[in-house]
Amino acid sequence: MQENFLVPKMRPHAVSIFAEMSKLAFETNSINLGQGFPDTDGPQELKDEVISCINTGRGNQYPPPHGFPELRSAISAHQKRFYNLDIDPDTDVVATTGASEALAASLLALVEKGDEVIFFDPAFDVYRAVIDLSGAKPVGVPLSKPDLRPDIQALSEAITPATKLLLLNSPHNPSGTVFNREELSAIAELVIAHDLIVISDEAYEHLWFDSNVHIPISTLPGMFQRCITIGSGGKSFSFTGWKVGWASGPRPLVAAVKSVRQHLSYVSGGPFQLAIAKGLGLPDQYFTQFRRDLGVKRDQLSAGLTQLGMRVVPTEGTYFVTTDISPLGYTDGLEFARMLANQCKVVAIPHQVFTESGHDFKEYVRWAFCKKPEVLAEAIERMQTIS
Ligand SMILES: *Cc1c(COP(=O)(O)O)cnc(C)c1O
Repeated sequence: MQENFLVPKMRPHAVSIFAEMSKLAFETNSINLGQGFPDTDGPQELKDEVISCINTGRGNQYPPPHGFPELRSAISAHQKRFYNLDIDPDTDVVATTGASEALAASLLALVEKGDEVIFFDPAFDVYRAVIDLSGAKPVGVPLSKPDLRPDIQALSEAITPATKLLLLNSPHNPSGTVFNREELSAIAELVIAHDLIVISDEAYEHLWFDSNVHIPISTLPGMFQRCITIGSGGKSFSFTGWKVGWASGPRPLVAAVKSVRQHLSYVSGGPFQLAIAKGLGLPDQYFTQFRRDLGVKRDQLSAGLTQLGMRVVPTEGTYFVTTDISPLGYTDGLEFARMLANQCKVVAIPHQVFTESGHDFKEYVRWAFCKKPEVLAEAIERMQTIS
């Protein structure tokens, strides 16, 4: 009998690091600052909406293939309100099973064997897996050290005649960097010069802090026509289990994404779509308060990690703070994370699991701060014994 049925191209992706670290957290009874999910739910009115939809029979049967019109209109209005983008709800947007499916459908629709896809390394672990699934070649370009910002020179050097697509993510997971206008303009210039397509993963579009405003690259001159922009209801409304996401952009690109996406999950949870539609229409106050609350948690965890002696990379957005552990005398994040779980009962994720072999981000560790203040305080307390 065959031992391993998995196709070779997916074997490097067989074990998800999050499964391994969550198992470790469970086994060691640790506080899990590994996986990025909030430990408090989003707005009550969205929960009420889901329940009301279920009870009144809205969305209990297959929703329309590309998403409820209510959701598509809400996404369109949201893109107008926050970014002044004109998105036709009938043709320029598709609802997906989370940002994850939007990413998968976009990549599978737009690239194949022979194409190269560039993204900044370290990267969300799904990127490499889905690019491999598509048959295209993943090309990671390392962020610059020590502050983990996009290196435009390195990006420029990575582009070849086979490069078809740039997969961008800002606010960036795992680094917490928000690409600024200058960086985005330089990237846009390369994209236009080399006639590339951009998939812009903006799952954390509402999670930026201080003056680090999120700018969709599709709003830059000449960029809309080449961009698929991806959003996540899970991240924007703190319901990561609902799995409602979307892709929007110019009609021809969205048409390609729709063609593939309908054969993946076909449709996604009806009542959840309708609730997220309601969420997208919440007043500005919700989004401002959301950022403010999370910013306080960022400050709390960053201060604690600094006090423990790590170098904290300033977090501009996302759920995550990154630290350099070398001031503690550690050189390997994976070893450090295992030690931390066993000795202090706290789980964090080493950047090397988000990184292509050969790119050296061994000294960086990612910590999720989307947790209750008392949980963060307890984690810091437990780590006082790091030796
Ligand atoms: C969480 C996350 C996603 C996936 O979002 P879902 O809506 O849960 O599928 C996509 N990209 C990044 C960078 C993420 O961190």
